[in-house]
Amino acid sequence: MSSLEYTPKNCWEVYASGKDIRDIENLAARYIAFLTRCKTERETVDYVCGALREAGFSSDTGTDKILLPLQGKAVLAARRGRQPLARGIHLIFAHTDSPRLDFKQHPLQEQSSVGQAKTHYYGGIRKYQWFARPLALHGVAVKDNGESVRIVLGEEAGEPVFTIADLLPHLAGKQMDQSLREAFDAEKMNIVLGHRPLFKEEAEPGKKRGKNGSGKESSKDDKDEMKSPIKANLLRILHERFGVVEEDLYSAELQAVPAGPALEVGLDASLIGGFGQDDRINVFLALEAMLQGLPEQAAHTQALAFFDKEEIGSEGSTGAKSRFFEYCVQDMLRRWEAETLFAEVMLSSRGISADVHAATDPDWPDLHEKLNAALLGYGPCFCKFTGSRGKYEANDAHPEYIAWLRGLLNRAGIPWQMAELGKVDQGGGGTVAMHFARYGMNIIDCGPAVLSMHSPFELTSKVDLYATSLAFREFLNAE
Ligand code: MN
Ligand code: MN
Repeated sequence: MSSLEYTPKNCWEVYASGKDIRDIENLAARYIAFLTRCKTERETVDYVCGALREAGFSSDTGTDKILLPLQGKAVLAARRGRQPLARGIHLIFAHTDSPRLDFKQHPLQEQSSVGQAKTHYYGGIRKYQWFARPLALHGVAVKDNGESVRIVLGEEAGEPVFTIADLLPHLAGKQMDQSLREAFDAEKMNIVLGHRPLFKEEAEPGKKRGKNGSGKESSKDDKDEMKSPIKANLLRILHERFGVVEEDLYSAELQAVPAGPALEVGLDASLIGGFGQDDRINVFLALEAMLQGLPEQAAHTQALAFFDKEEIGSEGSTGAKSRFFEYCVQDMLRRWEAETLFAEVMLSSRGISADVHAATDPDWPDLHEKLNAALLGYGPCFCKFTGSRGKYEANDAHPEYIAWLRGLLNRAGIPWQMAELGKVDQGGGGTVAMHFARYGMNIIDCGPAVLSMHSPFELTSKVDLYATSLAFREFLNAE
């Protein structure tokens, strides 16, 4: 092959040595533990804050290592570099949210002797993937006295799980002829929570209500509850276990997510399967890059910014379209170098929008354009532009910036690939890149490829995990 041609490298061949293999396995083990534990935005931000606090980061913006969480769902962390902020920040952006099922505000219902929770899906799910599988509940309920209650149920051994019952094939004749869109009705995605009724004697005031019960509840409420004895029993259990009443559910954030741990996949255990890898894989890798093996002070100030709500358009106070990022940088400027303008910092900053890319699906190769599709195991994937159809809503990275990044990875011997998401006009998608490109900084999408993206069991390659962590480290550390 001519040296003029570029051939992407398979990372397994690049990292075949004993030391690299050990590092790959160690990183994968840490990642699997992270993915198992972090199934919501809040759990992810908690993990990030815990790791950074341990490394000496704090909310005191007067120090060189700052950590600014927002509503427990978004966070910005920065470490001061040797050079002034005016020379730009090296930023990695990623998102903490993943497609899942949220509880509705009035979730509890009882029908046909089954107690259920009604859901409203969040983000781009394929509805059929969520039926007949074990689900866990994760979230937070806040009482009207301000007390916040963390709810996680269905993950530990001995804890019950939850599920959405699917239609039996015997009665699915009509459904079989419907389109996927018609066949799976969001209003039938109700989670089975139980089916045992509350017995009258259990509901007797005085008999059941101990000092934890709310004394003001009258026998009239009990009578009403008994119209729905299964729901009444669910409320009893929720109260006993978490101290919450039905009204607390109205304002709660409860998510149904696939139950159980992330797992190694394949005879060779070369893959990782689990929920929420889009985009927690990049949260994890960016954090690793910041914390592992970097010199105490790099040339540029380094920052990680993790946002919520990417899957539904980056809206809201914790999404990438919010002013949070701006507030944080203004804060740093005020404390570190008050004379520098925000615009000056932005125009000289470099960003990576760290998000996953679609790997070529071995069963659907025809939906990808082979020459411009990512492959599992070929390292972090740059996506020069995102968007759909005629590149609408794209961030289109500048050649000067991509060349700088290519040079950086090439000199470090880190494999990378360049791809776009599917064939032109087959679909497409966007990331948070465009929201930060607006500030005038250089930014490009880059991240590992994923199979089964947005499913309850997404697949990534261990070796892509490793190569991407090295790439992020190289980027944060670059001159
Ligand atoms: Mn994503
Ligand atoms: Mn996504």
